[in-house]
Amino acid sequence: MLRNADLAEALFRLADSYPAGDMKLAFVRAAYAILDEPRELAKTRRLPAGIPFEVLPTVTFLTRCAGEDALAAAVARLAGPLRGQRGVASRTGFFSAAEVARAGVEPLARQLRGAVHFHTRFSDGASPLETMAAALRRRGYFWAVITDHTQGLSCVNGLDAQALRIQRRAIDRWNDRHGDELELVPGVEAEILEDGSLDLPRSLRTGLVVVAGLHTGLTSTRDQTARLLRALHEPGVWALAHPKGRLFARRPGIRANWEKVFATAASNGVLVELNGFPRRQDLDPGLAALARELGCRFVVGSDAHHPRHLVFDRWALVVAQAAGIPPEAIVNFRQLRDAVEVETLSRT
Ligand SMILES: [Zn+2]
Ligand SMILES: [Zn+2]
Repeated sequence: MLRNADLAEALFRLADSYPAGDMKLAFVRAAYAILDEPRELAKTRRLPAGIPFEVLPTVTFLTRCAGEDALAAAVARLAGPLRGQRGVASRTGFFSAAEVARAGVEPLARQLRGAVHFHTRFSDGASPLETMAAALRRRGYFWAVITDHTQGLSCVNGLDAQALRIQRRAIDRWNDRHGDELELVPGVEAEILEDGSLDLPRSLRTGLVVVAGLHTGLTSTRDQTARLLRALHEPGVWALAHPKGRLFARRPGIRANWEKVFATAASNGVLVELNGFPRRQDLDPGLAALARELGCRFVVGSDAHHPRHLVFDRWALVVAQAAGIPPEAIVNFRQLRDAVEVETLSRT
C-alpha cells in the first residue's frame, strides 16, 4: 500500500525538480495537502481538497502506482527540467497526518493532564489567552503552561516586562474563575542567545516556567553544543524547546554533540521537549530515543498558535511511542504539582 507520506515525498521531489514558478508551487501545495490528510488515500480513494488543478492528473496517476518502486520510477519519468533532489534531507523522519491518525495514541492522549508550550496574542499566537484556555478546558486538560515568546524582554524600555505583568493579571483572572477546572501557569518561551545565555533577565524568571529554545543560527553548520550546554545551566530553565530546530522541507536543524546535550539535561533536571508541531516534530524518534537512553525526562508540546493546533501534542506522542518513551517519563501525564516546582507555583 502506498502511504500518504510516500506520495507527499514523491510530489516534493517533483517540486524540487522544477524551477521556481507555478508548477513548483502547485506540486508543493499538493504535497502538503496529502501530508496533512488524516486518512490514507490508498484506503479512501478520494483526493483531499487543496490539490491544485494543474497537477491533479499527475497526483491521480501517482496514487495509482502499485508500490514504492513504481512510484519512484514514475517520479523519475515525470521529473521536470532541473532534476536533482536538494530538499530530501530536511524532509526525512517526519510522520504524516495519516500515520499519526492510525498510530493509535488517542486513548493515551486523553490521559494527558497538562498542556505545555502554546502561544497567545501576547506574542505571535492568533487567539486571546482566554480563547486558548477555554479550548484547553474543553479538550479536558487540568493545567496548562502559557509560553509566549520573550523577544526584546531584555530591552531597557521594559515594554515587554510590562506585557508580562498584564498577562499575569489575565492569568490570575482566569484562575480565580476557572482555576479548579483548568489551572493556568505563567511561563515564557525564552530565546537562547548566540552565547547560550537567555534573553530573559534572571530577575524576571522568578515565578515563571521557563522554556528555552533556539530561534537563530538554525541554518548554520557549526557545532552548537557549547551554546546548548550553557543554556542548560542557566538558572530557572525548566525545559529545552524543539532542541534541534529543524523545520520540514526548510532546514535539517543544528549540529551538536547530542550525547553531551542530553546527558547534561538529564543531570541538570531540565526537561527535553518533544515538539509536536507537524512541521517541526522535534526531536525526531532517533534523537528522542537517545535522550531517553541518557536518562532525560520529557514534556510534550503542541507549539499551538491557534486553538486548532492544540491537537498537535498527538504528533509528539507518536514520536514518543516510536522512540520507546513511556508515559511515566512525560510530565504532561502528571498532576501539576508533580510536573512543575512548587516554588514556581507558590509565587504565582
Ligand atoms: Zn519556538
Ligand atoms: Zn513556540
